[in-house]
Amino acid sequence: MHVARTRQELARATCYVRQSHPSLVLVPTMGALHAGHVSLVAHAREIGGGVIASIFVNPTQFSDSGDFNRYPRDEAGDLALLAQAGCDAVWLPQVTDMYDDANATAVDVAGPALGWEGDARPGHFRGVATVVAKLFGQVRPDIACFGEKDWQQLQVIRRVERDLALNVRIAGVPTLRESDGLALSSRNRFLTQAERRAAPLLYATMLAAARDIKAAAAVDDRLGAARHTLAASGFAVDYLALVDGETMSGVSQAGPGTRLIAAARLGSVRLLDNVAADESGTTQPKLTLDDQAARQSRHRSGSG
Ligand code: AMP
Repeated sequence: MHVARTRQELARATCYVRQSHPSLVLVPTMGALHAGHVSLVAHAREIGGGVIASIFVNPTQFSDSGDFNRYPRDEAGDLALLAQAGCDAVWLPQVTDMYDDANATAVDVAGPALGWEGDARPGHFRGVATVVAKLFGQVRPDIACFGEKDWQQLQVIRRVERDLALNVRIAGVPTLRESDGLALSSRNRFLTQAERRAAPLLYATMLAAARDIKAAAAVDDRLGAARHTLAASGFAVDYLALVDGETMSGVSQAGPGTRLIAAARLGSVRLLDNVAADESGTTQPKLTLDDQAARQSRHRSGSG
């Protein structure tokens, strides 16, 4: 695995990877990697490209510098995990590679960036869109993989790619979950034991609400009941809403592509999740760590 720490090393690494693969797939991350990130790398390999992951804790997407400083960092562990996952190269930029002293440009997104996380974290999507545009310019990938776990972020990036004609195919990757349903996240490590036991209720409550909404339950009433269930188990619900899965506007009934999205705090940890709630009546199968382990062993034995 090529490890690039400078723009020159990055140019060399992408050149090597391109020589042996039909396309280059970028997996942007902020490090503190877990199996969810590995599933993005697995997806990138499955779509046939040489895979380059980036690790950059982007200061401009944190509104609170305390949160930025507290963000977990584990470069040695991350590199070992990426190598094991079959990543071809890693890009580890410095802050100055992204923001030099004369930096005067940012990407401001309206549309899907408005509301929800956009309200809860002012400036967050501006920081995300700006750094992703810079990564695309530096790496020049054909495809970039982003997790459905951060559903609004995925829609923001699709919008930015289209609006700025960046010419990168955006691939959304299903959320990887613990067997009890909790979506993997770098922040889960901060849950106390009691909070960890309560945490899967978020996904379970959302699935049950999505099922009822698809079966034509009154949306406001059903979401009110779900908020109540969560609050009774110690969650502070920031939002739980039915939205158009592309524009992120709130909607009042299930339709094609509608999505249930939520952010809820358990103690100091803010959990984000989302589930399909469209009129088709189908529910996405839950993708768990066991599925991921089976997929990796198929890869290692060359049969998957
Ligand atoms: P982060 O390092 O948190 O910025 O995440 C990097 C990428 O990994 C983003 O595209 C996330 O949506 C994705 N990701 C994070 N958690 C998961 C998960 N549990 N399943 C799938 N993708 C994930």
